[in-house]
Amino acid sequence: MYAIPQSMTAARKPATETASGGVGKPGDKPLILIVEDETDLREMLADSLEQTGYGVLQADSVTTARQQLEQTPPDVVLLDWMLPDTTGLSWLRQLRRTEAYRELPVIMLTARGEVNDRVAGLDGGADDYLIKPFSLKELHARIRAQLRKQQGDGEREQYAAGDLVLDSGMHRVTCAGQEVELGPTEFRLLRYFLSHPDRVYTRSQLLDAVWGQQVFIEERTVDVHIRRLRKALEAHGKDVLIQTVRGAGYRFSLRSN
Ligand code: CA
Repeated sequence: MYAIPQSMTAARKPATETASGGVGKPGDKPLILIVEDETDLREMLADSLEQTGYGVLQADSVTTARQQLEQTPPDVVLLDWMLPDTTGLSWLRQLRRTEAYRELPVIMLTARGEVNDRVAGLDGGADDYLIKPFSLKELHARIRAQLRKQQGDGEREQYAAGDLVLDSGMHRVTCAGQEVELGPTEFRLLRYFLSHPDRVYTRSQLLDAVWGQQVFIEERTVDVHIRRLRKALEAHGKDVLIQTVRGAGYRFSLRSN
């Protein structure tokens, strides 16, 4: 069970490269797309980010955001929950079903702090979450974390266990050459397992590693996604690789229990 080493040199790309050369992309600054219909808040965020050295795109609706995204792909999206044309969450779900945007870092902004909304946002594919009002310091820290994660992902792009291969750069999983269909969370979960084989992880450790430490969601959410991951792998006879360790958590292993 190895990470395939040649991909380390071949496929590494900095987070900023994705948008370089695009319309309005200032130099090699990371580009942030702010989707927020409250003008004052949006402009305040834009000013703060520009002062820090980010490139900024602004949209006041999902329709505008869609156009922005096609013209100039950003490195991180800040996405408000309630927008005039459709909810940020439903657009996020659409993005995650689109190959090119499956791994685009999205931080949800919302005034609604209930646990259910957070779970819905994260299940919908958000990478992180900020509850309004939030501090600019917090926002900057979350953006940096997303950019780091993106760059980190580029360092090792391929993982393999037997004939199961995950390509991080291509956002693709295959088994004996056949495509394995996975949702964004299951993809991240499998990538984590493939990069940490034969170790037992508690639900809480998996939450921290795959969903992020800032996130407050129930541990049984892990079980839901493990179930989905197993189901996707089952069609290829690989569900046995995700093993339940009683009283402890989960382990990924080519060896049987
Ligand atoms: Ca709003």
